[in-house]
Amino acid sequence: MIVPAYTFIGTAIAALDIDAKIIYADISLETYTIDIESVKNKITERTKVVIPVHLAGRPADMDAVREFAEENNLSILEDAAQAHGAEWRSRRVGAIGEAGAFSFQSSKNITAGEGGAITTDDDRLAYTAWSLRNVGRPRDGPWYEHRLYGWNYRITEWQAAILLAQLERAPKLMEKRDSSARYLDKLLMEIDGVEPLLSDPRISRHAHHLYIFRYDPAEFNGLKKELFIQAMREEGIPCNAGYRPLYSYNFLPSSSPLPNTEKAAYIQAVWIPQPVLLAEKEDLEDIIIAIEKIKKHSRKIKEECKSS
Ligand SMILES: *Cc1c(COP(=O)(O)O)cnc(C)c1O
Repeated sequence: MIVPAYTFIGTAIAALDIDAKIIYADISLETYTIDIESVKNKITERTKVVIPVHLAGRPADMDAVREFAEENNLSILEDAAQAHGAEWRSRRVGAIGEAGAFSFQSSKNITAGEGGAITTDDDRLAYTAWSLRNVGRPRDGPWYEHRLYGWNYRITEWQAAILLAQLERAPKLMEKRDSSARYLDKLLMEIDGVEPLLSDPRISRHAHHLYIFRYDPAEFNGLKKELFIQAMREEGIPCNAGYRPLYSYNFLPSSSPLPNTEKAAYIQAVWIPQPVLLAEKEDLEDIIIAIEKIKKHSRKIKEECKSS
């Protein structure tokens, strides 16, 4: 299975759990989603599945992924854990590949505390998924007639009710996050050294699970991302450094470093979690005020951290 190296650990664990071999893909620095070109020379005849991750609620380049999948006879499993309601060329994510996986874990845009959903238009896959999450039961068979080796992966009706209620207000919240993200894009473009990710007209709807921007330490007197983030937090801005490359965990398959994954993880990417996008305009402006303040004092911050 092809998995981007810049994703949540769960994407890889899902593959390893069924003893699939992982091929790490690098990401594009413009979008931080899968760069399918990066695995061109790495796949073999045994490669079966590609898992594009719609990171931050931004649909991966599904034109490129689909073309590559068709050429190489691969199935597409979309990791849409962060992308409820997002659309690529007016098609909802999770409905583009053979199957899609959504998460309702507590940080996600639609949540039941925990839980998730699988989408597919393939009856056979739907049946198997239903059965596997019901300890291998057949859909219409007797209760103890387990036909597959399965698990209890069910969510409760309580959780489903909570999710249904959220579906009603989800479009409004999506719009709010989108207009906040556009406003932040505009504000960031006025400061050298911080840059929004590329906007792509093929993304007809972005779910904005995260607001990610690129930080350039060179414009901040070489102040490392880690210290920039620490300073932002001290200014009261919720943000974090995001993922490490998956191959940096010693219990996951290793890889030689992938250049863009390394850059995103260790140098550039700053993540702001989605609840911030539900705040008012003045609160978003506080982010810019904090960045400008840190930039102005970047030399001093760097020196203070060196000496302490
Ligand atoms: C949250 C998340 C998952 C896993 O979801 P769980 O419901 O916590 O298992 C998988 N992939 C990505 C990209 C995620 O953000």
